[in-house]
Formats: sequence, structure tokens, C-alpha cells
Amino acid sequence: MKAFRTKTSIRKKLINVLLLTSCGALLLSSLGFAVNDWLSLRSAMFDHMHGQSSIIANNSIAAMAFNDAESAKETLNTLQNDADIVGAALYLNNKTLFAHYERDSNRIPDKLPDLNTGSLNGDQFVVEIILHDNEPLGYIMLISDYSNLKKRQFNHLLIAFGVFSLALLFSLLLSRRLQRIISEPILKLAETARTVSENQDYELRAKKLSTDEIGALVDDFNNMLSQIQLRDHKLLKARNELENKVRVRTQELTELTRQLEHQAYHDTLTGLSNRVTFDDHLQLAIKQARRHKQKLAVLFLDLDRFKIINDTLGHGIGDKLLIRVAKRLSACLRESDTLARLGGDEFAVLLPQIHQASEAAEVAKKITTVIAETIMVEGYSLHVTTSLGISLFPDDGEESEVIVKNADTAMYRSKDQGRNQFTFFSAEMNARAERRLMLETKLRKALKENHLSVNYQPRRNTETLEIISVEALARWNDPEEGAITPGEFIPLAEECGLIAKIDEWVLETACQDMLSGKNGLTAQISLAVNLSPAQFIRKDLHEVIASILQRTGFPGSRLELEITESLFSTDSNDVCATLEQLRALGIELSIDDFGTAYSSLSRLKQLPLNTLKIDQSFMRDLGKDPDDEALVRTIITMAHNLNLKVVAEGVETELQYQFVKQHGCDIVQGYLFGKPVSFTQIQQLLS
Ligand code: C2E
Ligand code: MG
Ligand code: MG
Repeated sequence: MKAFRTKTSIRKKLINVLLLTSCGALLLSSLGFAVNDWLSLRSAMFDHMHGQSSIIANNSIAAMAFNDAESAKETLNTLQNDADIVGAALYLNNKTLFAHYERDSNRIPDKLPDLNTGSLNGDQFVVEIILHDNEPLGYIMLISDYSNLKKRQFNHLLIAFGVFSLALLFSLLLSRRLQRIISEPILKLAETARTVSENQDYELRAKKLSTDEIGALVDDFNNMLSQIQLRDHKLLKARNELENKVRVRTQELTELTRQLEHQAYHDTLTGLSNRVTFDDHLQLAIKQARRHKQKLAVLFLDLDRFKIINDTLGHGIGDKLLIRVAKRLSACLRESDTLARLGGDEFAVLLPQIHQASEAAEVAKKITTVIAETIMVEGYSLHVTTSLGISLFPDDGEESEVIVKNADTAMYRSKDQGRNQFTFFSAEMNARAERRLMLETKLRKALKENHLSVNYQPRRNTETLEIISVEALARWNDPEEGAITPGEFIPLAEECGLIAKIDEWVLETACQDMLSGKNGLTAQISLAVNLSPAQFIRKDLHEVIASILQRTGFPGSRLELEITESLFSTDSNDVCATLEQLRALGIELSIDDFGTAYSSLSRLKQLPLNTLKIDQSFMRDLGKDPDDEALVRTIITMAHNLNLKVVAEGVETELQYQFVKQHGCDIVQGYLFGKPVSFTQIQQLLS
């Protein structure tokens, strides 16, 4: 039964149910029919027996009245043709048998039963009184054995069974059709549900074939599908969003990891390798060079006066300048070379395979040339140069630290020698490098503790030789080292950013000195003060100078600022503007050390200059080298054509003096007319 409930298809179930129901109904009705048939047959049989007994009773009256048993028996024998009656008997009033008839076996009792009707040995009997003139004459009993009745009943049942079978067949056919009305919509619904679940296609809808409960079920099912579809849609959207987020996050993480890795080995500002990578590459290159008995070179470079640009124009511009420099450097190198930024404005280059030192020199030359070209940053045309140091493996060191240190030392030598050049390391440099470091520390201390002083060198009118001005020159007297020359400490100060402080201090001190001169001795003469070209990067230079003039009360018209020619060799509009601002303060401007750099005439013409100082190197060979004499002559003529006064520096001999005097030089300055001396001594000289 359970298997039927769970395993049988709904189709079969429906057919079975319908069949069972109709079968049950048919059986019940057949049973009812059979019982009813039996009862009605039986009652008909009794009626028949009563009817026959009345007829026989009437026909036997005479025989009984005359006690003629033979005649009575004949009368009874007429019942032979009646299939229902198997026996009949006539009894006298005393209930004894008078005459009888039997079809087959012995059924007739000798004595009449007391009942009118009943069963006797399985047969049915009826008893009636025989009346004659209302007087009882005797009794008649008829017996039936049901056999005829059963035969008929059997026939009836046979017919009923045929009808039953036909009805069952009919109901089988009908139920097969009828079940479809119910099962078809359910099966269709089930099929749709299966397709949906197999294909995960929630857009499908079940077909509604009826409006009954199954129709409602289809509606509910379709509603459910709609909801699933909606939820599915939302889920899909959410999943897509999630996947998107995960993808973006993963990308971000990958990028971050890449950046972090990159940062660990690269310089964040320029994207070049950093010190870690450089050291790695160097160590690897040393191993390979050792194995193959090859040379390698390390170039150390740093931008000249970068610190000033950074301090005065700001880090933003400084950073951009470094990026441009990095690009230019990269362009000079091969892919196999390593270029690294070690920090600040320091860069290092590793040339892993060279055959001779000259190859490193070639690269260094290329680098100095490309860096010296003007770099535009946010409207500023910046002019930077670079100083390089080169050290070689295995000549200058076997270990990476030593090679790097020696390249650094050689770089400082380049700076000492006037910058914008490269130098190969040599053993004696180590001592100088140490001194340089020591001096830098001392210079900072000297500025704080006032170990600096100012000396003055007179400048005379070439014709009259009277003192018309003095040049203020910085002096440094270290308690341990003694006097350290400006030639040594001024480039150092420019390099480490101390030059502005020194220049300002010298200017202020000199102005104060000049105003404090006794008896108005210094009241008539002018003051010349050196101004480092490195200062011209400052936007507030004229303001600084104006404030010193204001503080000290020294008139701008008596001040002359000397700027070395290197400043004018580049055509920067900013320089011109600053010079104009200084001129506006009444200050005169002169080119110092003229002839050492390469300033163009047309450039000099544009600048608001007053004086040109011929570099002392030209004086030395006057009277010896005709070329130098021609040069000095030309410079003087040219300067006069540009309306510039000419000062001859470093005049040491009478011969030199006569030469410059002869060619129209306006002012002379040199040991011949007085060495740089203290302010007290200059006053004595003036008096
Ligand atoms: P400079 O401005 O060209 O100064 C002239 C230099 O020549 C001075 O050297 C002076 O002592 C020297 N001199 C003068 N006459 C003669 C001579 O007849 N023969 C020889 N051989 N030398 C002579 P000093 O004082 O050693 O200064 C060297 C340079 O240092 C200066 O050259 C100047 O460029 C720089 N300097 C000095 N003081 C300052 C300063 O306060 N600020 C700046 N920015 N630079 C300064
Ligand atoms: Mg000077
Ligand atoms: Mg000079």
C-alpha cells in the first residue's frame, strides 16, 4: 500500500481509484440485486406453492371425502410438470398421511409438521387446511427443494456478471479519459517545474489549463517563479557587484603590492633605482667583473648649488628639477647601466662593463653637457651644473663600499675645482675629502661664533691713484686651523647652503664699518661687496639687500655688488629682473672675474651693468704673452663701447699697471696698490 502511495504514478493512481470506486459500486449494487432477486424469487415461489396447494386442495376434496387415496394420488401426480415442487402430500384431520407424491427421494414426513410453513431437511414446505363446507377435511403440504429457484438465480447472476464486466470495462475506459482532466494539468505543471529546475530558467511559466484548484496552483507556481526570478535577478546583481568589488579590490591590492615592491627598490620621486638596488647591482657587477677579469666604473654626481634652488624656490620646484635631471641622465645611459638616486640631489651611475677609464670619462662628459642645458620648471629657467666623481674597480677599490666612497670623494674634488666637471679618484683625495667634511662643520660653527671678519682692499683711480673705493673680502680665522682662504671656504659655503648668510653678514658688517669711519675718512669712498651667483635664485634678494641698507643707513648709491661672470653666461630673464631691482636701489653692478666664463656680448648689452672687472689671470702674463695683451686691450675697448667702467684686478707690477693705464683702464686694484687689510688699517691708509 505504501509503495502504491509513493511509487505509483498519479495517472495510475487516478485510474486505480476510479476503477476501485466503480468496482465497489458495481459489486454493492450487484449484491443488492442478487439479494433482492433471491428474495423476490423466493416470495414468488411461495406464492406459487400457495396457489398450487389451493388448486390441489380443491381437486382433492372429493377423493378425501370418499377416502379414495388412489384418486387423490392421481391428483397429486399432476404436479409432476411443476419444476418448483418436488413433493406433495395430503393429510387427514388427524395429521396422518393420506396420499402423497414425490419426485425423487424420500421427503414426505409421515406426520404433518405443526407449522404452516418452514423448512424440512433443507427443503421448504407450505401447509394449508382443506375445507369442505367450512368443515376441515384435512391438510395439504407442498415441498420445494429450491433447485429451480437456484437455477434461475444462477442465470440471473450470470447476466449480472456480464453486465458487471461490461460496466467495469466501460468504467476503465472512462477513467482513463477522466484521469486526464485531473492529471494533465498536474503533469504539465510538473514538467514545467522539472524544466525550470534542470535549466535554471526562471523565465519559463506553466500553462494554465483550468481555472480550478490546479489552475490556482499553476498561478501560485508562476507567482513563485516570478519571485524566484526577481530574487535571482537581485542575487545576480548583488553577485555581479560583489564580483566587481572583489575584482577592483584585487586589482588595487596587486597594484599596491607592486607599488610597495617598487618603492622598496626604487626612488619614489624619480622612479629610478634607490640605494638598495644600486648596492645590489654593484655587488653583482663586482662579482662578474672579478670572474671575467673586467673593469667597472661608479660615477657619483650631485647638482651644484641645488640646495639653494630648493631652499629659495621651494621643494616643489626642487623636486621637479630632480625629475627632469633624472630623465636627462637616463637618456645618456645604456640599458645595462644602473642609474640610481641616492637621496637629495645625489645620483650614482654604475657602468658594469668597461675596458678602460676613458669610457667612463665619455659618459661623464656627456652627463655634464646635458645637465648644463637650461631646464625650465614652472616658468623658471634653471641653470644647474653637475660635479662628478669616478672610481674604478679594481683600480680604486675591490669592495663596493670602498668604490662608492671613493667616487664620492672624487666628486667633492670636482666641486673644489670649480664644479661642472668630472674627476677620477686618486689616493691623495681621501685626505682632502676628510678635510672638506671637517671644514663644513667648522664653518657652521664659525658663523655662529663670529670667527669671520671682513678685510678691505683699496681700488684706485688709474690716473690719479687716489682711493675711490674698497672691496670687502670675507676672512675666516679658525682658532685651530688658522686662516682659511675664501678660495676654499666660499665654494664650500655655496655647496652647503651657507653662502647667503655669509654674504649678508659681510654686506652688513662692511656697511656698518664704512659708516663708522673716523673723521669722515670713509664717507666719500664707495664700497664693493661680492655677491655669490648662487644667490640669484632667490626671489627676495633685492628685499634682503634693501633691508640691510635700511638697517645700516648705508646709501645704495655708494654700494657696488660684484657678481662673477658665470652668472651672466646663461640668458635667464629672472637674473635680469633681479639686477634691475638692485639697480632700482641705486646700487651699481659689476661683473667680477671677467674672461673666465663665456658670456656673450649681446647678453652683456641687455643687462643693467656698470663695471667690468678683468680677471687677475690676464694680468700675470701681461708683458709676456702677446695674446693676453690683445685680449685685455679688446676687453677694455669693448667694455667702454658698452658704457662700462673697467677695473683691472690683481695688478702686482708696475709693468702691469702701465699697460692697463695705457689702454684706458679706469680703476686699478692689486697688491701693487694695497693688499686686503682690516678696517682700521684701511682708515690709516686713507688718512
Ligand atoms: P674676487 O672678488 O675676485 O677678489 C679678489 C681676490 O684677489 C681676493 O682674494 C684678493 O685678495 C685677491 N687679490 C687682490 N689683489 C691681488 C693681487 O695683486 N695678486 C693676487 N694674487 N691676488 C690679489 P680673496 O680675498 O682670497 O678672495 C677670493 C675670492 O673669494 C674673491 O675673488 C671672491 O670671489 C670670493 N670672496 C671673497 N669674499 C667673499 C664674500 O664675502 N662673498 C662672496 N660671495 N665671495 C667672496
Ligand atoms: Mg670681487
Ligand atoms: Mg675677482
